[in-house]
Amino acid sequence: MAHSHKPQSLRDKLEILADAAKYDASCASSGTAKRNSKSGGIGSTEGMGICHAYAPDGRCISLLKILLTNHCIFDCHYCVNRKSSNVRRARFTPQEIADLTLSFYRRNYIEGLFLSSGIIKSSNHTMEQMVETARILREEHDFRGYIHLKTIPEADPELIHQAGLHADRVSINVELPTREGLTRLAPDKDEGQIEGALAKTKDRIIEAKDERKRFRHAPRFAPAGQSTQMIVGADQASDSDIVGRASALYDSFGLRRVYYSAFSPIPDASAVLPLKRPPLMREHRLYQSDWLMRFYGYAPAEVQQATEADGNLPLDIDPKLAWALKFREQFPVDVNRGTKEQLLRVPGLGTTAVKRILAARRHRTLRLDDVARLTQSISKVRPFLVALDWRPTLLTDRADLRTLLAPRQEQLELF
Ligand code: SF4
Repeated sequence: MAHSHKPQSLRDKLEILADAAKYDASCASSGTAKRNSKSGGIGSTEGMGICHAYAPDGRCISLLKILLTNHCIFDCHYCVNRKSSNVRRARFTPQEIADLTLSFYRRNYIEGLFLSSGIIKSSNHTMEQMVETARILREEHDFRGYIHLKTIPEADPELIHQAGLHADRVSINVELPTREGLTRLAPDKDEGQIEGALAKTKDRIIEAKDERKRFRHAPRFAPAGQSTQMIVGADQASDSDIVGRASALYDSFGLRRVYYSAFSPIPDASAVLPLKRPPLMREHRLYQSDWLMRFYGYAPAEVQQATEADGNLPLDIDPKLAWALKFREQFPVDVNRGTKEQLLRVPGLGTTAVKRILAARRHRTLRLDDVARLTQSISKVRPFLVALDWRPTLLTDRADLRTLLAPRQEQLELF
């Protein structure tokens, strides 16, 4: 390359590899919240590479999110680091990453490290370097911060095992919701290998928990569990396909989280990719459907019933409301007599509101005003609920109910 005659400084490398880590569609994606743009960018080392993620306890923590290298022997079409992409390349040594992490950590810029990498030489070689980075931090510096390692499914299981001994969380990207998508857009990746690695990691997490019950000093293994990520909108998969795949993944691999990431166009894109990113709202609707399955008792097939004719969730209303509008015969639910499960299905009632309703109705029969005090938007709840002084006569059957309930200013919900 033209600029390879000049040795890269640590700072140059940080600039390249922190930038390369910010694209959602690559080995670097992690379901982390967006990076903090106000604290820097180019010109201030402080801001570079720092992103925010949710810790297992729900706290938002800042992490140094970086790649060991953006060289890659794979050619995934959606990835800015793919072999055929024309980008500046750089490579850190494990020692350099460890030093950077420690220096940012000591200055309180970060609480941990999110490390991923393009695949250099071989999957094993790359994984060894990532494990070595974590080992230096933990063993040589007694680093207590958070470490998330992205593991490479093709790597030797022993290396993935080592990764789990040092890291709080490990993740492996499923990348695309369907096998066809994967074959077309990530030709070097293999669904079988990805699932094999997820399964092994799950087994190791369970074994390690068991061992720690019996032997207090048994080593920890990825105590924060494993997660995965899927790219939305780069292939033809519908929301219904994605929801089905996510629920199968939760079931089979004991995942803590499945992250969805709207495909975003990359510089120097490959011609097989769509030119436009899908609406961000689509990613949001998938996260909402994920919540319905994890906290509201909806079966995956029920979330799929909320999709429209094209298999996608509506964008103008949330999936819970979409389901309720399709299954109106299930409503209204009596706020004073409905079961917890029924109340959780009422659009506009969150888990906290339902908990409060159940507690309050032990002492008195609730009126609509009481419910209004316990929820955020009584107008959304009203058509679906019966209270002591309220019954939504015919409202539930109105053909234009959807129009009435869809947020009038979509913008408000979008941003
Ligand atoms: S393996 Fe694929 S997604 Fe990962 S860095 Fe290489 S090209 Fe990108």
